[in-house]
Amino acid sequence: MSGATLLKETGPREVFCGLTSIVWLHRRMPDAFFLVVGSRTCAHLIQSAAGVMIFAEPRFGTAILEERDLAGLADAHEELDRVVKNLLERRPEIRTLFLVGSCPSEVIKIDLARVAERLNLQLKGKVTVLNYSGSGIETTFTQGEDGALKALVPLMPSSQENKLLLVGTLANPVEDRLITIFKRLGINKIESFPPRQSTELPAVGPGTKVLLAQPYLTDTARQLKDKGAEILKAPFPLGVEGSKLWIEAAANSFNIDKNLVSSTLEPLILRARKAIEPYKAKLNGKKLFLLPESQLEIPLARFLNRECGMELIEVGVPYLNRDMMSPEIDLLPEQTRIIEGQHVEKQLDRVRAANPDLVVCGMGLANPLEAEGISTKWSIEMVFSPIHGIDQASDLAELFSRPLHRHDLLNTKQLTKV
Ligand code: SF4
Repeated sequence: MSGATLLKETGPREVFCGLTSIVWLHRRMPDAFFLVVGSRTCAHLIQSAAGVMIFAEPRFGTAILEERDLAGLADAHEELDRVVKNLLERRPEIRTLFLVGSCPSEVIKIDLARVAERLNLQLKGKVTVLNYSGSGIETTFTQGEDGALKALVPLMPSSQENKLLLVGTLANPVEDRLITIFKRLGINKIESFPPRQSTELPAVGPGTKVLLAQPYLTDTARQLKDKGAEILKAPFPLGVEGSKLWIEAAANSFNIDKNLVSSTLEPLILRARKAIEPYKAKLNGKKLFLLPESQLEIPLARFLNRECGMELIEVGVPYLNRDMMSPEIDLLPEQTRIIEGQHVEKQLDRVRAANPDLVVCGMGLANPLEAEGISTKWSIEMVFSPIHGIDQASDLAELFSRPLHRHDLLNTKQLTKV
């Protein structure tokens, strides 16, 4: 690993919980339903996340247990059964039902794995019931996807077939584009996990080479490895360089001719580098501070430093999987300060002291920082935007140059007033 400085910090945190990932998972698998076993707070979070940040689709829905049902365990089990029964009567198209745990202590006491087992017996294979935790005590928002995928892995059939498995939710058009590139390289058997229908789970086994599209799937990767898959080591497909190395990692593992790889990628790379230029002009030399939230912070820092010329003040991450992140950290400048975990007050003090040009942070911290005149970018936007792959690199750079542009405009207006 490079000479980055890896530190840990604990204390009060300011991050979304794992329930948030339901917002993109339900869009990915329209035949699945996510039943949050939680309180009104959880329902509010899901509704505002789904309704405000993402256009709510008619098939989206979240059922919650009312607070009174959480008072007694026996009642809670009955209530859960009742809610599930009503839900499945109303929504016969549901094929996979995820019971998603949350924070309230009464919910933590319910053994959702046993509830899922009992419901599976009752439903006799018509619907598969699974469970995972989206609790804010245990998860940050992208970890919700890791929990959901980990719950699906045991259902994946076994296979010896040689194939490439892309793991992690991507926007469908971005995924299609990446698959086209792999096919042009001669990798013909490519599947995705999660699939676009929850019932069409790819098979996995010793011939499966897993290419992680997202950096927050630690548990899922471990389980796939336990099923015999090989986890390819690569940076993540953000920016031109990360995407190129990511595609090359797959190509190398399938022994694809290097000339074919470079002749396929080179035109895309040239075009993307040119498209980044105007944004690079804005970002170059600017100071960047990333607070921990999405787990995408290290790949983003690498892209913004190496391809856009930004100076990294601090890179916060909710948790650090050193093994998975080592290809990324190797590309960071020596002495980059990476902080795992969070003490939000201390971190904000460091932000103020460093006076960065841009802070990547959660929505809750963005407003107070903006009020202090510090430009911010919501990290949650990255998980809802199509930013993966060589073709998307300029869009990714544009996302970060936008707040700086706005900041400049505001300053110009103020000067004009004076
Ligand atoms: Fe529900 Fe806990 Fe998330 Fe709050 S942090 S919305 S209580 S799961």
